[in-house]
Amino acid sequence: MTHHSQAPTPAANVYDAEPIPPAARDEIDRLLQSGDLFRYTAPENAPVALLEREFAEMMGVKYALAVSSCSAALFLSLKALGLPRDARVLIPGFTFAAVPSSVVHADCVPVLCEVGDNYRIDIDDFTARLDSGISAVIISHMRGHTSDMDAIMALCDARGIPVVEDAAHSLGTEWADRKIGTIGRVGCFSFQSYKLVNAGEGGILITDDADLVARAVIMSGAYEHNWQKHLAPGDNSAALEQGFARWQNRLPLYNLRLSNLAAAVIRPQLPEVPRRVRDGRRNHDFVAERLNASPWLHVPSALPPEDRAPDSIQFNLVNMDDAQARAFAIAAADRGVKVQIFGHSTDNARAFWNWQFLPGSRPDLPQTRAMLMRACDARLPAHLTLDQCTAIADALVLAAHDVIGHAQVYGT
Ligand SMILES: *Cc1c(COP(=O)(O)O)cnc(C)c1O
Repeated sequence: MTHHSQAPTPAANVYDAEPIPPAARDEIDRLLQSGDLFRYTAPENAPVALLEREFAEMMGVKYALAVSSCSAALFLSLKALGLPRDARVLIPGFTFAAVPSSVVHADCVPVLCEVGDNYRIDIDDFTARLDSGISAVIISHMRGHTSDMDAIMALCDARGIPVVEDAAHSLGTEWADRKIGTIGRVGCFSFQSYKLVNAGEGGILITDDADLVARAVIMSGAYEHNWQKHLAPGDNSAALEQGFARWQNRLPLYNLRLSNLAAAVIRPQLPEVPRRVRDGRRNHDFVAERLNASPWLHVPSALPPEDRAPDSIQFNLVNMDDAQARAFAIAAADRGVKVQIFGHSTDNARAFWNWQFLPGSRPDLPQTRAMLMRACDARLPAHLTLDQCTAIADALVLAAHDVIGHAQVYGT
């Protein structure tokens, strides 16, 4: 291979976040003036409570609970489902380490299933493992890639197995015109800085199940009668109140609350979501088309019901061996684009063999492993212009040429 250190590098800093809308400043200033940072101090309408109402309305669900992270939301979901110690929870073999971690944290046992080279759950393997004493399922819409939710819900509903959606990185994605995160019993989202809405840290869970959310609210740290501040004024919350009455003092308090400051940063970003989704999709599809024109790069297509909200792009290296795959990542970096190959980058938190904290024997998922050894990940935030996207796509295509050589590319 040849290095092209003289090649023009894409100017875009793909790690730059968008500025927080100015409206957040006034609200933060007000909070700093009053010192009112705790969600349960104000008698009503604390920023966290308003965020929960606005998020639930945006998603078209009855209840939302804002917490300290998506990991906390996943953990609380499992706890709120009332799973006994050592319950088996089925998760995809391709996800972020936070997912098996939340299962372990909830005293349950993660069971991994295979994921195909389109980054989506292998439904045959999922089905086979579902009948191995599984008590709950977490579907991780990894990087927004949505597995076949129709098949998954039919299989789980038929067995009475609850589904938790890890939609950490999928805000704005739709499946057959339904919002991702509203299809399973619970949906969990992240406000960590690399997600569509950025508060540094934060998360939220949504559900239509009053008893489940009542349990989650109490365990999130609504001690004494603070649950009253989760009843929306004027709203018919009888089912919710019954849930709180049932569970008061009967559940541990894990204290995973969100601060008013984080809510003040999040709320003015919610109206920005449709634009970020639109621009992210435009950038992704533009770059995907260019990558797919190369014989060495392949962006798997989405399943037909899926409308993604991408802020990054994933693609597979075609007909490259391990050495060529490594050389590709180096060539792309030389051309100014940082690419992670999930299975090659050191200690990658999305490679299941690095989850050495898992109990029991090491999982063996040959199909998922093969995918991870060729699947590349590059950031492609919504704020990039099409010129910047062109530069990124060109750099990736040329990096493949660097590795494979022009002769082969042009078939001489
Ligand atoms: C970011 C992410 C998480 C964890 O979210 P935190 O808010 O950082 O806990 C979980 N799952 C997926 C798929 C993610 O992308």
